[in-house]
Amino acid sequence: MGPAGLFAALRFADYGIPSILLERGDPASERMKKIAAFWRYGKLDEESNVCYGEGGAGLYSDGKLMTRVKSPYIQYVMNRLVDFGAPPETAYRKDPHLGSNKIRTLITKISSYLKEKQCQLHYRTKVVDILFDENKKATGVRTEDGRTFHSPHIILATGHSADDIYKLMEEKNVACSAKPFSVGVRMEHPRKLINSIQFGSFAENEKSRDILGAAKYRLSYFNKESERGTYSFCMCPGGYVLSSGTQKNGLVVNGMSNYAHNSPWSNAALVVSVNLQEQKSDLFAGLKYQRSIEEKCFEYSKQVATGREIPAMSLLDFLEGKVSARQLPSSSCPSQTIKAPLHELFEKEVVLHLQEALLTFNRQMKGIIGKEGLLLAPETRTSSPLSILRHQETLESTSHTGLYPCGEGAGHAGGITSAAVDGIKVAMSILEKSV
Ligand SMILES: Cc1cc2nc3c(=O)[nH]c(=O)nc-3n(C[C@H](O)[C@H](O)[C@H](O)COP(=O)(O)OP(=O)(O)OC[C@H]3O[C@@H](n4cnc5c(N)ncnc54)[C@H](O)[C@@H]3O)c2cc1C
Repeated sequence: MGPAGLFAALRFADYGIPSILLERGDPASERMKKIAAFWRYGKLDEESNVCYGEGGAGLYSDGKLMTRVKSPYIQYVMNRLVDFGAPPETAYRKDPHLGSNKIRTLITKISSYLKEKQCQLHYRTKVVDILFDENKKATGVRTEDGRTFHSPHIILATGHSADDIYKLMEEKNVACSAKPFSVGVRMEHPRKLINSIQFGSFAENEKSRDILGAAKYRLSYFNKESERGTYSFCMCPGGYVLSSGTQKNGLVVNGMSNYAHNSPWSNAALVVSVNLQEQKSDLFAGLKYQRSIEEKCFEYSKQVATGREIPAMSLLDFLEGKVSARQLPSSSCPSQTIKAPLHELFEKEVVLHLQEALLTFNRQMKGIIGKEGLLLAPETRTSSPLSILRHQETLESTSHTGLYPCGEGAGHAGGITSAAVDGIKVAMSILEKSV
């Protein structure tokens, strides 16, 4: 139950209708202990981690709430978050940011509220099958422990990491299509350096420093010949780089920051768009491509360390295409870093696009290329490489009625707010049909 599932349930609760929420991972407090053990000792719980568990990927997110989608429900989402304890400015700022520390407490409050409203929240309850009648109408789900839950309306909001759910969609002939996605690295610098590039002399001035806070950036570059874009994504000023994988044999990185944006580092994803030819004939080509990079990075980490440390390369080495004697710049990553030939862990085209874009970005933000710049890999889960198709109006699967593909995993959202909005849209569609 990530933002999509939670906000769908909140909307039903507004109308006095309790939902049943099934979650493969643990409640938030237990989940946080599992995540800490993973970062510290490399002990991954494949069912309860940075992506799975109460709150979904949203719980350990950076808590940036801005979105490019346009919807009348955005204000509802912000107001509800304020109801549950978000700072009041969340309701009116253009770029509200909660930070990981605040979003975590909010999500547990939302869950408690839902329980008060008679919703059932089942943890460690993994959905392994969706039940359909002979007319391809959803009737319920079966969980790993053998239970069945019956309902004529199944909202499938399982996020972008649930490979098993995509496989289930294939087995059940639920209509899906491949979609473009992006892969790359996390770029990290000292926060002070990014502040001084963006704010100039104001960065050092005590008064303006407090007003300006930690500097942000957004970079993009389009290669006209290859028609591929390279862009920064999910920038976390004063943040941390996190190990956020879900599989024992793979590594993934992502970023977060706390509300105060106060770590000594700033990071952002730097990713290149991928449009695989193989996706035309193989629905799973995108997933396989993502997982193969994640596995390569894990194998490298295991070969030279324990498999928990994140492969990293100094930005200067990456541009030169060789691992030199240069020391790795320091990093915020709690899993630690190991020196690695990142240029060999990605396909050549991705490396060339990243190198080309970095040189351009350094003209826009003079100073990002330098000895303090660090790249960590791999950033592979910026979005789902698959979409579970649905009717524009009813929001039901185009192949199976009563099944509502929802949120980021189904390809209908790309962040916390858009996932929450999508959950509300689906709930409203079900409510309209039921009255
Ligand atoms: C570290 C990090 C930082 C991020 N920062 C930001 C940010 O600042 N701003 C932003 O907008 N977005 C951010 N994101 C992305 C954001 O978290 C997601 O876009 C959003 O959570 C998607 O919501 P969702 O509800 O669609 O899916 P998810 O949040 O992924 O939730 C899916 C849920 O389904 C559960 N599930 C999966 N399979 C099953 C199954 N078989 N049975 C039962 N349960 C299942 C999962 O355990 C999970 O709880 C970040 C993500 C990460 C990992």
